[in-house]
Amino acid sequence: MSVTVYIPTPFRHLVGNRANIQANGTTVREVLRNVDAQFPGFNAQLIDRSGELAAHINVYVNQVEIHDLQGESTAVSEGDEVAVIPALAGGAPTVMTPEMVDRYSRHLIMPQVGSAGQRKIIESSALIIGAGGLGSPVALYLALAGVGKIGIVDFDVVDRSNLQRQILHVTESVGIPKVESAKQRLLSHNPNIEVVTHEEPITSENAFRIVGDYDYVVNGADNFATRYLVNDACYLLKKPLIDGSILMFDGQATTYLPGKGCYRCLYPAPPPPGMVPSCAEAGVLGAMCATIGSIQATEVLKLILEVGEPLVNRLLLYDALSLEFRVVKVRRDPNCPLCGDNPTIHELIDYEAFCGAPIPHREAPFGG
Ligand SMILES: [Zn+2]
Repeated sequence: MSVTVYIPTPFRHLVGNRANIQANGTTVREVLRNVDAQFPGFNAQLIDRSGELAAHINVYVNQVEIHDLQGESTAVSEGDEVAVIPALAGGAPTVMTPEMVDRYSRHLIMPQVGSAGQRKIIESSALIIGAGGLGSPVALYLALAGVGKIGIVDFDVVDRSNLQRQILHVTESVGIPKVESAKQRLLSHNPNIEVVTHEEPITSENAFRIVGDYDYVVNGADNFATRYLVNDACYLLKKPLIDGSILMFDGQATTYLPGKGCYRCLYPAPPPPGMVPSCAEAGVLGAMCATIGSIQATEVLKLILEVGEPLVNRLLLYDALSLEFRVVKVRRDPNCPLCGDNPTIHELIDYEAFCGAPIPHREAPFGG
């Protein structure tokens, strides 16, 4: 039984840019399977994570929607027209090319991701503070996962001493800006994404503008002034913040959701300058970066997919020497000056004065 299948413009690139194709089958289900057999990846655009036709897709047989007939079991006859029509909500819906269907196939087969989840990943954006030890694995895994827009904030240039742990950068990148090196590496891993470079220190003047452009913020900052600044900007803009830090053989990670506590609840004041050594002063085992950075990337993807329990109100502590992970409870502090019941901080402050230390220029400590 040969029928004509009408393909709307968002899906046409999947079928050789044709508006109508011929397909075989005795029911709508068989016809759609036959289209997918001719043009692999087509059905991935139509089905949700449970394998059913997605709610935003309507299928018509001779102008009648199949929910008013027998659904996907609706019989078709020679010469019928089947039309597959997605809801259009202003912008063009995300359509996966056959290349993307191949690339993300290990996600697409997972019930927790599927084509609906993969599209959420593609439509999301994340800002990564620092293209250093933590920022490197975070950026790589988010890029590989297909996060559609990745912003990188860093004003440093690649130094040979970075290469022991900062896996975004290679020997040939020494001397070029980290954001440039990062962009090259991320796009060579996944040309489907957009990488936005912010080659400037994040400050009270530009933080709202930069953070405001993204859905999620990942902190790989290497100094306390930046940590407090990013925390405050994320809280005031209601952006989820996925925090991580490493030093020597120790790592920490936690996720702050707006209204559920913040970095100031956990650490109301920074240590006096010089009290906590930096990575530049005390060192860091390079492989530690991957452990904590990978946890941060996983947290972002869980939030995008709305699966599992995020690391909220919990602080993960990793001691690599004893190989022990501990999770301690952290709570929103009602007396927190930022997110407490009677906040005193309503805008960004002078963080260099607050921390008694400048935001470092070049070759900086902690997390980097
Ligand atoms: Zn707080």
